[in-house]
Amino acid sequence: MLEFEANAARLRGLLTAEAKGDERDPEVDAGLSELRAAWKRLPAEDRALAGEISASLKELVEGRPAAQNGNDPGPEESPLPEPPTEAELRMDEQREARLALQGLDGLTKVAATETRSYNGPAEANALLAHVGLDSFRPGQREAVEAALAGRDSMIVMPTGGGKSLCYQLPGLASPELTIVVSPLIALMADQWRKLAEAGHPVEMVASGLGAARTREALNRVGDGSARIIYCSPERFGSTAFLDAISQRDVDLLAIDEAHCISEWGHDFRPDYLRLPKAVARLGRPTVMACTATATAEVAEEVRSRLGLESPLEIRSGFDRPNLSFDTLTFEGTGTKARKLAILEQALKDAANRPAIVYCGTRRDTEEVAEAMRGAGLLAAPYHAGLAPDERASTQLRFMTGDADVIVATNAFGMGVDKANVRSVWHWAIPSSVEAYYQEAGRAGRDGAPARAALLASRSDLGRLVRFIEQRKVDPTSVISYVERLNARSDHGALELDNPRDDADRIRLAIAERVGAIDVEPAIGGRLTITVNRRPDRAETEAACRIATDRGWQAYRAVEKYAFSEACRRRQLLDHFGDSTPGAPEGRCCDACDPDTAWLPDPETITVTRSGKRSKAKKSKAAAPAIDLAGADAELFERLRAWRTAAAKGKPAYTVANDRTLTEIAASRPSDEGALADIHGVGPAFIKRHASDVLNLLSEA
Ligand SMILES: [Zn+2]
Repeated sequence: MLEFEANAARLRGLLTAEAKGDERDPEVDAGLSELRAAWKRLPAEDRALAGEISASLKELVEGRPAAQNGNDPGPEESPLPEPPTEAELRMDEQREARLALQGLDGLTKVAATETRSYNGPAEANALLAHVGLDSFRPGQREAVEAALAGRDSMIVMPTGGGKSLCYQLPGLASPELTIVVSPLIALMADQWRKLAEAGHPVEMVASGLGAARTREALNRVGDGSARIIYCSPERFGSTAFLDAISQRDVDLLAIDEAHCISEWGHDFRPDYLRLPKAVARLGRPTVMACTATATAEVAEEVRSRLGLESPLEIRSGFDRPNLSFDTLTFEGTGTKARKLAILEQALKDAANRPAIVYCGTRRDTEEVAEAMRGAGLLAAPYHAGLAPDERASTQLRFMTGDADVIVATNAFGMGVDKANVRSVWHWAIPSSVEAYYQEAGRAGRDGAPARAALLASRSDLGRLVRFIEQRKVDPTSVISYVERLNARSDHGALELDNPRDDADRIRLAIAERVGAIDVEPAIGGRLTITVNRRPDRAETEAACRIATDRGWQAYRAVEKYAFSEACRRRQLLDHFGDSTPGAPEGRCCDACDPDTAWLPDPETITVTRSGKRSKAKKSKAAAPAIDLAGADAELFERLRAWRTAAAKGKPAYTVANDRTLTEIAASRPSDEGALADIHGVGPAFIKRHASDVLNLLSEA
């Protein structure tokens, strides 16, 4: 955007100069084509502003002197950028869908309310009233008071347990700046939106927001009007950001999802490695480390890496009184059919919907979703292998009730805040108790009764063991890994991508832990490595042991949870170090209240599904993407054109995703029933669009 604005300003100067003579300046022609090229590189969200800028040049361009020697570039050469090509439009569609998945759609529409800065006392109750609340949840008051007193803290609370209030109140209290770092853009955007709409002096910067918006936000940080800035961790690599915050005194740095700094952990983010240095550079403000998932070991690592000084530690709020917990165990042949039968029977009860079913693999999500669709439920699969527009449309359909069963991998849910989910299911044992509780906790956010159910079988454990084995590293491989890095390096320095492979990531972490290498984040999620020395064998052996032990600890914890007879709620609270007594509002769990009247017994359930039918469904689910040819491809383009009109300026995925249009073009349904069988078509689509689509098909 900056490039575009600079080009436009330069061109304006040239045009003004040209207008004083009566000859065309070839530099203006060159400037025009540069501007058009800059336009093509702009992200979709910047194009509206760029359009305004180029429109302001229109008059000057139309008033240009006539060209001589037939050098006229022609009337089609206007300063208004060319309409985007078909391919660019498609990229825009996927980009819009990606923004929606990040929770960044519609952010520009936040109503500009008059800012109201807090001038009252730096006192917890007064601040609570200022944001319109009348009571603290457990742990919040202590956390707020610690930050106001300048004491570091470590807050371990579940997602949705009220961590954000702990830093928001001290942030709003003082005219100094509070920086909130979070990798979860959707959750950050949600918090920012709520505070900004209420008129609090809060800003946010994130990739995808657009250059103009980012500049405005940073201006308000620099001029002192913002009290809280939300940002993602990679911002600490941006000069504009560092310049803006250097103009302020920072009195609180709140680091959300602080466990991401742990290289052992599954959520490791290299950008978090920058944060300890940021703490020092900001003049050592008070630090509040927040997380939902830290085990004792990870908590210790977070404390030492961030250099927290005698922090207040709060672990609380892990109980979810309105949730009941059930584990159903399945053994032997027919396990899958019985699991499907239980799930179908439970989900057919409207009291258990909307529902999320978590699966361990993409294939399972497709198969289970197809089986539930076959049973007449509005189910859709969701995993990271689907195109962004398909994921965005599925998410939207779930949020609006057009689909009420989502069968997903753990890729689903980061940005989804649907309060009325009535049940969350785990098709198989997940990799850790942390993952289980985080996902199960997406049920019943509205406080009404909701269920979490785990469908466990011993055979699931094999997958988890394989997973640990794959991540296992031996000391020799760490030493040879460092030697390979050294061989590739230039005088000990090199840059590489953040390893996708778990084993490589753990090798890197161990090499860093024993001092053999230094790791720094680099541009674009990459890492800068400095090789110091060969890893010490004994130290490396010890570090490898710790890494493997952590994997087995997680395994043993989740195995115990799945197969023990003890109260599930008590086990979960103990796991997170929350010693408060569980206080279920209704049924507690299958251990406390074995009467699972709400579900049939897994051992005796009648499986009505015929093998033949599920086989046919399965092959359909596993079918590869359809390749359209000839008439179908033409029809697909006509459907896309129809979709653009039907979207009325909204993103394309809000009507239908590409996969849905592809299937319509290929199968040409002739009535509403056949249309409703198509992937991604729900009652809302039928109601709004069935007659248009069927008309279009009958004309084709
Ligand atoms: Zn219980």
